[in-house]
Amino acid sequence: MLNAEPQDFICDFCHSSWAEDRPMIEGHRGSLICGPCLSMACREVLIGGGGVDARNGVGCTLCLQTNPVRHWASPVDELVVACRECIERSARLLSRDTESGWIAPTA
Ligand SMILES: [Zn+2]
Ligand SMILES: [Zn+2]
Repeated sequence: MLNAEPQDFICDFCHSSWAEDRPMIEGHRGSLICGPCLSMACREVLIGGGGVDARNGVGCTLCLQTNPVRHWASPVDELVVACRECIERSARLLSRDTESGWIAPTA
C-alpha cells in the first residue's frame, strides 16, 4: 500500500474503499473484492449452495473466466459476479492474512 490512498482501492462488488475493517483481495487486472463481500459470497455460494450461473459472455470479475460453476452476484451490480473458485481462493488467501482480521464464515 505504499504511496496509495484508501480510495485507490475500491471493491468491484460494493464500491466501498479500503479501510481497517475492510481488507481487500486482488483478482486479475487490479480487480478487488472486500472482506464483507467475500463473507456474503461464502455464505451464499459455498455454505448456502446458492448463487447464480454466469451470464452469457459475462465472466467472473476476478478471474475473467466463464466457468460452469455457481457465481455470487454483486448486490449493487448483478453483472459483476465472482465465481466459486475465486471465492474459495480469496477466502483461503484472506484468512491466511492474519493482519486482515478476516475469518471465513462457517454458517
Ligand atoms: Zn465489497
Ligand atoms: Zn473467478
